[in-house]
Amino acid sequence: MSEQIPSDADLLFVETVSTGTVHIAVQYRPWHLTPVIQTVEGGGALVALAVSPTVTRCGKRTFPQFERDHVKTNCFRDEQLCRACYRTLAPADQERAFEHETPDGDEDDEPEAAA
Ligand SMILES: [Zn+2]
Repeated sequence: MSEQIPSDADLLFVETVSTGTVHIAVQYRPWHLTPVIQTVEGGGALVALAVSPTVTRCGKRTFPQFERDHVKTNCFRDEQLCRACYRTLAPADQERAFEHETPDGDEDDEPEAAA
């Protein structure tokens, strides 16, 4: 059974632009985390924070803050959700994965909608 995400942590949706797959990452609050502050020569904690990857639930390391292959999104179709990410969620959290906006309301042009 998956561990439930703290209710005050945010789900973060990261879209892989090349495939359109939307992965799920959890944005924990500082108080959820065990401090992993690395001392960077000439830098400091802030730098370490800025370069730390956003790790999706399926284990992808992404850097949506400064790369173009992965972008944060909050508007996508349910079927774009990465199933591997989705499966890691506790049942209570799986509902939260659908709390996003969709590009358009009707999906009549979807052939599989009739199934
Ligand atoms: Zn994923």
